[in-house]
Amino acid sequence: MSKDVQPIFILPEGTQRSSGKTAQKNNIMAAKLVAETVRTTLGPKGMDKMLVDGMGDITVTNDGVTILEEMQVEHPAAKMIVEVAKTQEAEIGDGTTTAVVIAGELLKQAETLLEQNVHPTVIVRGYRQAAVKAHTILQDIAVKVTEKEESVLKKVAMTAIYGKGAESAKEKLSEIAIKSVKKVIEHKDSEIIFDTAHIKLEKKVGGSVEDTELIDGVVIEKEIVHPGMPKLVSNARIALIDSPIEIKDTEVDAKISITDPSQMQAFIDQEEKMILGMVDKIAASGASVVFCQKGIDDIAQHFLAKKGIAAARRVKKSDIEAIARATGAKVVTNLDDLNSNDLGKAGLIEEKKIGDEELIFVTGCKNPKSVTVLVRGGTEHIVAEVKRAMTDAIGDVASALRNGRVVGGAGSPEIEVARRLRRFANSLSGREQLAVQSFANALEIIPRTLAENAGLDPINVLTDLKAAHDQKKLWAGINVFTGKTVDAWNAGVIEPLQIKTQAISSASEVAEMILRIDDVIAGGKAEAPPGMPPMG
Ligand code: ADP
Ligand code: MG
Repeated sequence: MSKDVQPIFILPEGTQRSSGKTAQKNNIMAAKLVAETVRTTLGPKGMDKMLVDGMGDITVTNDGVTILEEMQVEHPAAKMIVEVAKTQEAEIGDGTTTAVVIAGELLKQAETLLEQNVHPTVIVRGYRQAAVKAHTILQDIAVKVTEKEESVLKKVAMTAIYGKGAESAKEKLSEIAIKSVKKVIEHKDSEIIFDTAHIKLEKKVGGSVEDTELIDGVVIEKEIVHPGMPKLVSNARIALIDSPIEIKDTEVDAKISITDPSQMQAFIDQEEKMILGMVDKIAASGASVVFCQKGIDDIAQHFLAKKGIAAARRVKKSDIEAIARATGAKVVTNLDDLNSNDLGKAGLIEEKKIGDEELIFVTGCKNPKSVTVLVRGGTEHIVAEVKRAMTDAIGDVASALRNGRVVGGAGSPEIEVARRLRRFANSLSGREQLAVQSFANALEIIPRTLAENAGLDPINVLTDLKAAHDQKKLWAGINVFTGKTVDAWNAGVIEPLQIKTQAISSASEVAEMILRIDDVIAGGKAEAPPGMPPMG
């Protein structure tokens, strides 16, 4: 055989590849690191993270998904873990740290199994079975809840807020969360359907967290654009426009040569005439208020003011949509199409000064199912964190009602599910049994972390908890202040069932997916073709 066998390259230059055990190890390591980062924030005694972005902007939070989004992780497996948090955020809004921590622990447990030469596909199969079983167990132990059980719902909201920057006002915030959810709820036959997207959260620095209020209608962070316009319009007829009320076409640069001053005047007159035409069209529709998603020209502002029409410009698309939903207005692009049928209705539109800035309140809307929670607090960082806590509380109350089921918290459901999973494992044969046992171990990371974060000894706490559960104390959880076992339900630590089922299923799905990977092939960084500016 000739000595100089040419190596064969099947991949382009610059490609990085790792395969087999190395790929697996790296992926697990990256995923574990992500979980480890957010783990210290779990629970009411969890710490906060300070995140500083490229612009120097600071976020102080203990919200799992916020931390992970701001971290901008690069590693592909780590990114998959971040997706788990995002799914949890989209589905419920709360429980993001829980989901990520469980995912990390499932992989850590799998690592031990891999070292014992259990094949990844066996682990995956075992995990799958365990996840399904965990679902059934959770369904079994969950407690029914309805809209009438205010006190339970309040505990659900308070549990979400506990330990967040908003804690001082948790009573009031919980009540607002419940009220806002009840406002947007709809009953269809025996089902409850609603979308928490109808609840708008607007934050405004100033005052204290206690000043947070629920407003019937939409509040937007904008001001009436011209001082000559009314700041208060009752029985408002609202036009929503998503194109600029100006004639400059920013796409095209036209050059006009003017040879004598009268031409200049004619040109200005012409421009004015066109703008006046636009304003006339708005007035002709009968609109008394205009919300424009784009700019409004100075001259247009002047003409609108003269006609007594109030206007706001550069209104966010999401705000335009919220106003559309609340007032029944249709968004119009071409002013020629605008007519009275497109207009929305609101009892009152008012510009008010809150803190040191103006906000526009759209109240008395045609559709009462639009509400805004105006979040207040002393500093930018506080309002941001209170807003996140409110998102969690609203999401939890909504989830509890939609799903009609809640469970105790403080680590109690995880201990109970782990206990019953172990029993289930004993009924299995072969190596999948090991995987199901590992799954059970992994769930205990939640109570263990709650204990660690509270400065308690996790081994003692877990031993006590398990003993209590063996004595059929279903909701035995951790009192994070004393380290003693407490009945989570009686202590008012209650969470929606869906937080737990969603966290477990997405954590297990991502763990399974990562375990199935035995090859990572990363292409070299794409270079911009010549002549193209580098990508931002
Ligand atoms: P996540 O992002 O997962 O929601 P949190 O920081 O909100 O993370 O922590 C949630 C965990 O804290 C849950 O397991 C919940 O049961 C627990 N928890 C919340 N309040 C208490 C409390 N007062 N005592 C003990 N545990 C609590
Ligand atoms: Mg939470």
